Amino acid sequence: MRVNGRIGIVGAGLSGAVIGRELALAGHQVEIFDMRSHIAGNCHTERDQETGVMVHVYGPHIFHTDDSEVWDYVNRFQAFMPYKNRVKTTSNGQVYSLPVNLHTINQFFGKTFRPDEARSFIETQADKTIEDPATFEEQALRFVGNDLYEAFFKGYTQKQWGCSPTELPASILKRLPVRFNYDDNYFAHKYQGMPENGYTDMIGRILDHPNIHVSLNTRFLRAQKEDFAHVFYSGSLDGYFDHEFGPLGYRTLDFERFDYDGDYQGCAVMNYGDVSVPYTRITEHKHFSPWEEHKGSVCYREFSRICGDDDIPYYPIRLVKDKEQLAQYVERANAETSITFVGRLGTYRYLDMDVTIREALDTARQYLGRLSEGASMPAFQHSPI
Ligand SMILES: Cc1cc2nc3c(=O)[nH]c(=O)nc-3n(C[C@H](O)[C@H](O)[C@H](O)COP(=O)(O)OP(=O)(O)OC[C@H]3O[C@@H](n4cnc5c(N)ncnc54)[C@H](O)[C@@H]3O)c2cc1C
Repeated sequence: MRVNGRIGIVGAGLSGAVIGRELALAGHQVEIFDMRSHIAGNCHTERDQETGVMVHVYGPHIFHTDDSEVWDYVNRFQAFMPYKNRVKTTSNGQVYSLPVNLHTINQFFGKTFRPDEARSFIETQADKTIEDPATFEEQALRFVGNDLYEAFFKGYTQKQWGCSPTELPASILKRLPVRFNYDDNYFAHKYQGMPENGYTDMIGRILDHPNIHVSLNTRFLRAQKEDFAHVFYSGSLDGYFDHEFGPLGYRTLDFERFDYDGDYQGCAVMNYGDVSVPYTRITEHKHFSPWEEHKGSVCYREFSRICGDDDIPYYPIRLVKDKEQLAQYVERANAETSITFVGRLGTYRYLDMDVTIREALDTARQYLGRLSEGASMPAFQHSPI
């Protein structure tokens, strides 16, 4: 490991910003590149000129975590406002509460069940003939039965993944996706909130250190690695190797923006479970900042499709074919020196923001520790497989 010299970081998203700051604080000169015109990666927020609404440009981001160190960390750079994600869904002409909870069950079946009664009822709905579910569909049918599956899981999943739930592994639905109480808080984490001035402002403050220099609109090329003592790369793993083993599969999103004078849907997120509706959900961004008041409104219709060469990769698909290719890229990366692949694209995993920050802090600490011991840093601090 080269002890002296600048550190190169690819990507000014959460991964790059947190690693960059930790290394800058330890006295390193840090050069960060991002090919986009802005910092903050996919968490980027921007205030809409016309309405004043804070827009989550790459889709809605809600901060939630049980990790108190990460919570303290983000609060150092931004005041977090209380925010609970309460998602609704429109299915077959009715609006229901998500995740499926006692209210949803009672409304859907026209009942007034108490928790124990609902639990027993759902057990009578569950398809017990399926002993060892192999697919998402079988898993859902075994957990909740056909009626809830059709209304709340089938259509949405099909639109989200672009294939039938019979082609998806059972592992996607790990636990019983139903609550037998009236808790409609989408996330079950101890800390939840929204940065008062948006994620881009927060990440700008993380990057604000005299040892950090950020170059925007600048794509990092593999040959530049030699200019640095070590590179932390939060771009796509397959992209770094020029897609040598073929592109790793991703889903991308298209956002169709429309403006509304007033309150369009009365909540931040409305899902659409019916397959006849081509989009998966509508997000109304002003409801992500409930402490602000805006007359006008900015909404996004969200469509999911397979990611092409020129699209933004959002969700790693990670089915069997992708995992086989991934193994080839991991082997290739492990043969490299002086580079560590990090973050959601560098390790081809879906990572929530809190996990991204946790991993970035651990990676920076690991690097500093190894540097002091004269040991080298591996290609992956967190294995993609
Ligand atoms: C639709 C959606 C909704 C989400 N909602 C939530 C949520 O509600 N809560 C939550 O906790 N998490 C959410 N997440 C996850 C969150 O977006 C990630 O945790 C976070 O973006 C990961 O940060 P990162 O720095 O690893 O990657 P990114 O944010 O993708 O940053 C990587 C950066 O690298 C740059 N880059 C790539 N290659 C190069 C190159 N060769 N040269 C220069 N620059 C390059 C890119 O331009 C990008 O800016 C969501 C994700 C998606 C897709």
